[in-house]
Amino acid sequence: MDPRRVITVYHDTKKSNQGPILYWMSREQRTESNWALSYAQQRALTENQPLIVIFVLMDSFLHANYSHYDFMLRGLKEVAAGLQKHNIAFTLLKGDPSKLIPQFIRNHGISHMVTDFDPLRQKKSLQQHIAEKITVSMETVDGHNIVPVTTASKKQEYGAYTLRPKLHKLLEEFLHQQPKILKHPVPFTKELPDISWSTLLDSLPLEKNPYFTATYPSGPRAGKKQMEDFIENRLNNYAAHSNDPTKEALSGLSPYLHFGQISSQQVLLALEESKFHSSATRDFVEQIFVRKELSDNYCYYNINYDNFNGFPHWAKKSLDAHRRDPREHLYAYEDFLHGNTHDRLWNAAQWELLTTGKIHSYLRMYWCKKILQWTKSPEEAMAFAIKLNDSYSIDGRDPNGYTGIAWSIGGLHDRAWKEREIFGKIRYMNYQGAKRKFDVLQYINTYLKDEEHG
Ligand SMILES: Cc1cc2nc3c(=O)[nH]c(=O)nc-3n(C[C@H](O)[C@H](O)[C@H](O)COP(=O)(O)OP(=O)(O)OC[C@H]3O[C@@H](n4cnc5c(N)ncnc54)[C@H](O)[C@@H]3O)c2cc1C
Repeated sequence: MDPRRVITVYHDTKKSNQGPILYWMSREQRTESNWALSYAQQRALTENQPLIVIFVLMDSFLHANYSHYDFMLRGLKEVAAGLQKHNIAFTLLKGDPSKLIPQFIRNHGISHMVTDFDPLRQKKSLQQHIAEKITVSMETVDGHNIVPVTTASKKQEYGAYTLRPKLHKLLEEFLHQQPKILKHPVPFTKELPDISWSTLLDSLPLEKNPYFTATYPSGPRAGKKQMEDFIENRLNNYAAHSNDPTKEALSGLSPYLHFGQISSQQVLLALEESKFHSSATRDFVEQIFVRKELSDNYCYYNINYDNFNGFPHWAKKSLDAHRRDPREHLYAYEDFLHGNTHDRLWNAAQWELLTTGKIHSYLRMYWCKKILQWTKSPEEAMAFAIKLNDSYSIDGRDPNGYTGIAWSIGGLHDRAWKEREIFGKIRYMNYQGAKRKFDVLQYINTYLKDEEHG
């Protein structure tokens, strides 16, 4: 593995103690094309040691609800079976990683730990906290970005236009198949606790979204199937119809990418095998490569990625100048939650979110900008948008989400537009604009069947 994939090193990695190697799986929940896993295996092979993979299930995480845990656990069950086939031990522990990981390391004589890089504040501080409690070496590996986040850029980028050339310059260097996971020759012989998959989900104190009716197949196999189906059947329509929520043109890959059941690297390699250089793929590559990696860049380098302070200077100044503008409509969180606004298009988008766990890409921007328009302040708009997105989007709690919300409300990665009420110089979107892009009534009728939601 290219050593630039290692983002953070805690303690001395060169000093080799005797003992099993641990991979604490977190953001990258797959066996294939997982840099951290293959790196950990390489070290275990070199030192002739067993390899153990651990997943720590927390009771709650950033508004995640029952459906998110359900999706994740179904995927993890497949991962566990895959590891077993490779003679790699897997265990899942329930509780607080900052207690359980150090305890596990002590009890099992672990000599070195590898874990997934994650730009989110909560994950970074958790890793830091664990590193302070252990004495063995620990490394974080970036398996989420094709070009490792700190290699792509050493600072927060202004926008896609500044990161894009850097990423494309490094693409060839980093986009290649990685070594397959081998059947591990050294078994882990100590007993690990059994995982009761059938009761695990219901043992957690999770809120259920009563409106959610979708069922998504989960796991690395399902992610691959989603990718293949997209490349074969929808990719050619992506450029023409990706802004039309009444057409099936998007990949639908975000839940699989978010939970690391598939990597963007696997998707780009699959595209390369098919028609990577055709014009149909250009727009898609811009999203799954440039925009996605720009989100990690923002969250990694800007600690305020989820609040007003993270916005660019011009945007903060402009929003500040419009704080006292009269708001024709003001809604409470509950009004937004139940889609009870005066705007049927907005309500329909909210009901798409509640029932399917997604909002179409184009409408996500409209949905979020209207929250800015109909709340007391940009701070309140941020808080409402993040809570709704993280609680109900199956792909929520993701750098793409915090970045998309900061783009919509705070002009992040965008430029100043014509000044107007409330928005200041932040780009505005309206119903008429949506009508020019797609059949708004058809969309509304799909998600607002019941008049009480109208
Ligand atoms: C207000 C708002 C909230 C958002 N919340 C989330 C979120 O919680 N999780 C999430 O993954 N994405 C989020 N996005 C980004 C984008 O809307 C979704 O990635 C996209 O809708 C997912 O559907 P798809 O996989 O079918 O997209 P496709 O168009 O098929 O794109 C493929 C992949 O490219 C990446 N991508 C696409 N658009 C963007 C973008 N604008 N920024 C960064 N990466 C992108 C994603 O990884 C996506 O899965 C948000 C955008 C906005 C404006």
